[in-house]
Amino acid sequence: MRSELPPTAGLALNFKDFFAHKNHVLELQIAEILNIPKPAKTCSGTVAFILSLQVLNDLQPTKKQVIVPAWTCPLVVLAIEKIGFTPIICDLAPDSLLFDEQKLQQAINQHTLAIVVTHYAGLVNSFQNIQLLAQQYNCYIIEDAAQAMGALDQQISVGLRGDIGFFSLAFGKGLTSAEGGLVFSKHADIHQKLHQKAHELPFLKNWEIKRSFELIGYGLFYHPQFLPIFYGHHLRQALKQCDEISAVGDDFDLSDIPIHQLGKWRSQVAAKAALRLPKHWMQLNQQAQRRIKQLQQLSYLKVFNENFNTTGTFPFILLLVDHENRCQRILNDLWQSGLGITKLFVRSIPNYPNLNHLNIGTPNAQLFAARSFSISNTLWMTDEHFEIILNILKKHDDTF
Ligand SMILES: *Cc1c(COP(=O)(O)O)cnc(C)c1O
Repeated sequence: MRSELPPTAGLALNFKDFFAHKNHVLELQIAEILNIPKPAKTCSGTVAFILSLQVLNDLQPTKKQVIVPAWTCPLVVLAIEKIGFTPIICDLAPDSLLFDEQKLQQAINQHTLAIVVTHYAGLVNSFQNIQLLAQQYNCYIIEDAAQAMGALDQQISVGLRGDIGFFSLAFGKGLTSAEGGLVFSKHADIHQKLHQKAHELPFLKNWEIKRSFELIGYGLFYHPQFLPIFYGHHLRQALKQCDEISAVGDDFDLSDIPIHQLGKWRSQVAAKAALRLPKHWMQLNQQAQRRIKQLQQLSYLKVFNENFNTTGTFPFILLLVDHENRCQRILNDLWQSGLGITKLFVRSIPNYPNLNHLNIGTPNAQLFAARSFSISNTLWMTDEHFEIILNILKKHDDTF
């Protein structure tokens, strides 16, 4: 049987992790590793975000608009709508993961509750002038660090510069509890309210049983040997039907947001696995840095890398191609190769069929979605695998 590399560098579980016990406390473990206030646990990153919005809205009840980037996880936007708030979609700057400053100025007003700053691909994103702007309009900043647990900004964890930060423990984000979220704030009052809201979440037995089996499945089958069955098969079927949205798992709707607690056993398993995170992040960083140097030889590629004085965790390497057609040709060669190539978010937010009621043009995000792809940074990717990818990418560069 052929093997398949996972699209991101998820932390694999060991047999022993399943025998975690009450001394393995996820929130304490993460607080210690990252030097952050003890986070509150939720059933997903999305629910961590929902609690954040509710806590902030309790503080400023007249404000219900939330500014999010036009290229992000559709769940973020669905979450805002689920609780009856209004997502304000802001385009990116051209060829960039930053907000278009002018569009942001136009989006913000006295009803703005929060601006969401998203840390993509395990990298620390820049705050630009957002803190000044937030001060001016007396609104909050939420750091979406779903993909960036472990990323450091001047040696300090992401999530501490804004008013609230959250992480995701979904499959593929690194550490996993088969869906889970962590949320925290540097402000003691907000932090305490987040804990209170998380404490009030219901325990939903059926969801907990389902997720527990999924976690066991992950423990047993998250390995290149089994991924053709559990990952590659669906990817190839969906691509055969030209359904890129389903291929990358971006096909969410409101029913994909159950709201409940993160079960005790699952959080203990994650806590035990979390002991391996610091070493895991260091290995990923080193591997990514070596490979980014090689990718930078390709004249048509923009490789996203750490900004000055920041440290990334690199679950995958995010790349932007100069032309949409070239990106499509690369993906034709590589997407189904089993080598861990895929796209992060395949559309801009208003271009997902179930979000197209957000009738707003975001041309830069749309181009970013069409021209970007990712290379897995899994430690199972050997230098030989990477060499194959690099040679195919060179074939697409006219200057080689
Ligand atoms: C995955 C993701 C989320 C949602 O996290 P879940 O734990 O899957 O609910 C939010 N924002 C970004 C940027 C993500 O990648």
